[in-house]
Amino acid sequence: MSAQLLDGKFFASQIKEETRRKIEILKQQYDITPGLTVVIVGENPASQIYVANKHKTSLELGVNSQVIRLPEQVSKEELLTVIAGLNQDPAVHGILVQLPLPEHIKPYESEILEAIQPVKDVDGFHPVNVGKLATGQEELVPCTPHGCIRLLELADLPIKGKRAVVLGRSNIVGKPMFHLLLARHATVTVCHSRTQDLAAITREADILVAAIGKPKFVTGDMVKPGAVVIDVGINRVGDKKIVGDVDFDAVKEVASAITPVPGGVGVLTIAMLLYNTVKAAQIQHKVQV
Ligand code: NDP
Repeated sequence: MSAQLLDGKFFASQIKEETRRKIEILKQQYDITPGLTVVIVGENPASQIYVANKHKTSLELGVNSQVIRLPEQVSKEELLTVIAGLNQDPAVHGILVQLPLPEHIKPYESEILEAIQPVKDVDGFHPVNVGKLATGQEELVPCTPHGCIRLLELADLPIKGKRAVVLGRSNIVGKPMFHLLLARHATVTVCHSRTQDLAAITREADILVAAIGKPKFVTGDMVKPGAVVIDVGINRVGDKKIVGDVDFDAVKEVASAITPVPGGVGVLTIAMLLYNTVKAAQIQHKVQV
């Protein structure tokens, strides 16, 4: 069997189009231009690329996009002052601090992310937004797992009643993925590095989400025939090549649908960031479009 390819670009363009329409309505009917500010500290090359892509997509969709570049050696206090200023600025609806932070302020990552007003937290990492998601209120949801769910929904792949297995329990992917699947009535198991007999669990999955950061970890014999496989992993192998957490060539022969890497989930993440920016603007202005 050769699986249906779930093309991230195709689904991301649908989400972006829906977001663009909402931005037009916000501008024309309410005189609101959603604003997104990304704060980047230092010169991490991968982060520079991510931030440039976010800025480009924001401008394409008509979002007021701003990038604040701070030097590598910026202090925690200086960064907190920048965030406090953005919290007060009514033109800024979304604030994103690009991770990873430099080593000297990494230990304060939680304090820094929690300094962002929850209604402007377009990454969905603030404990208020985490708590809302865990209690079934999806407001500002982490972009990558939200993108995975939107992809399943847009591709008309049923979730309700299905057995879902999530590999990875990080705060940014695995745990929110669990809540999103559970809220849509899947029966969900979350696995991690201490899970025993992992393959026996993954073989039960109708929907398998891999987010562990290990190249080609999920092999064909770990997948139930006909399963839907969502590969969140982004692993650099060799100089330039990027591969996922799933052995794509082997698993596509077993699964019924599969996301490629690159060109799968990664593309959806930025689309969901803009979706969240528009959502944040609506929350702050108490309007719904
Ligand atoms: P983390 O490193 O934060 O978490 C990895 C998780 O995988 C942990 O829960 C860990 O378990 C688990 N794990 C590690 N090894 C194994 C193993 N052998 N068996 C089972 N579980 C294991 O990673 P992230 O969640 O941040 O990212 C995961 C992947 O997704 C990465 O490749 C990352 O690059 C990618 N990613 C992609 C994004 C996108 O836009 N497409 C966005 C974010 C991430 P434990 O908790 O026990 O340590």
